[in-house]
Amino acid sequence: MNKKLFIAGNWKSNKTLVESKAWMDQFHSDLGDATVVLCVPFTVLSYFHDVLAASQSHLQLGAQNVSPFSNGAYTGEINASQIKELAQWVIIGHSERRKNFGEADLVLQQRVDRALETGLQIIYCVQDDHSSVPKGVHVVAYEPVWAIGTGKADSPENANAVLTQIKKATGISTGIYGGSITHENVKSFVTMDAIDGVLPGGASLDPGKFQALISAAL
Ligand code: PEP
Repeated sequence: MNKKLFIAGNWKSNKTLVESKAWMDQFHSDLGDATVVLCVPFTVLSYFHDVLAASQSHLQLGAQNVSPFSNGAYTGEINASQIKELAQWVIIGHSERRKNFGEADLVLQQRVDRALETGLQIIYCVQDDHSSVPKGVHVVAYEPVWAIGTGKADSPENANAVLTQIKKATGISTGIYGGSITHENVKSFVTMDAIDGVLPGGASLDPGKFQALISAAL
């Protein structure tokens, strides 16, 4: 395959520090020439930052959210500068945040603005080809809600058609698919013209399955 694949694992609200260390101990870090990003909870970013710096791994690190505000009196928020010290990437607009936390375009734009000011790279999730995508986003992820965590992936053909539209409308060159991706179905997606990679959630939680997914995609 002559395109550079982009694979971003999303741990969601899973794994303690102890569990993260066990995952890292077992992960082979055989990434080929793919860009592989692991998006972990804030609480383990520091651990991964240090362990990746000390190892030969090219695994990159991402957060799963960023405050719409800069530093200051925003109790409980993690701001872009705090993330940038530890990670290169951030996921914004995941459907779980839209659904469970009522996030809509205005706050998502503010999160994007804070990330861009700080130099964080953005993986922006949309559920269809009608959703708006803020300017400056680096990677756009098409993730139909019904396919997330259900074991029922979209068809590669439909994902390809939707990503073709999104990439054309936004001018973003890297478009990835997320929704029940596994090591068994990944190849059928990444061989599609407009699909540059994948965003696995559940399949990134097990180090062996995540490595198998990366190897199958390459
Ligand atoms: C996700 O985390 O965005 C996702 C698509 O999850 P899963 O792969 O488990 O469906």
